[in-house]
Amino acid sequence: MDCNTAQSYIEPFLHNELTDDEKESFISHVNGCKDCRNELEFYYITYSVFDELDHDENGETYDYIAALDRKLESSRKTVSMRRAIRQIAFIAALIIMALVAMFILLH
Ligand SMILES: [Zn+2]
Repeated sequence: MDCNTAQSYIEPFLHNELTDDEKESFISHVNGCKDCRNELEFYYITYSVFDELDHDENGETYDYIAALDRKLESSRKTVSMRRAIRQIAFIAALIIMALVAMFILLH
């Protein structure tokens, strides 16, 4: 993914509008690209500040960067978990097809 694409994904990422594939390449790009990471931090903090103004929390200084890291990490985990579930479903389907084929051949 190039920087232009990555930066066009920032807002959809923050609004959870990317597909798993888009999310995965976006996360791996920002983890390796300082410019896009800075851009993402800027947008994330901007949105979070507006959010906080809306919610009016208890006035403590919020660690936006840590929160962003948590969001990146949890998005990455969700993507790989969904991948794993899809693979397990695929393997289960193969096993069922093999059993059906064996059943047909034996009868
Ligand atoms: Zn970049």
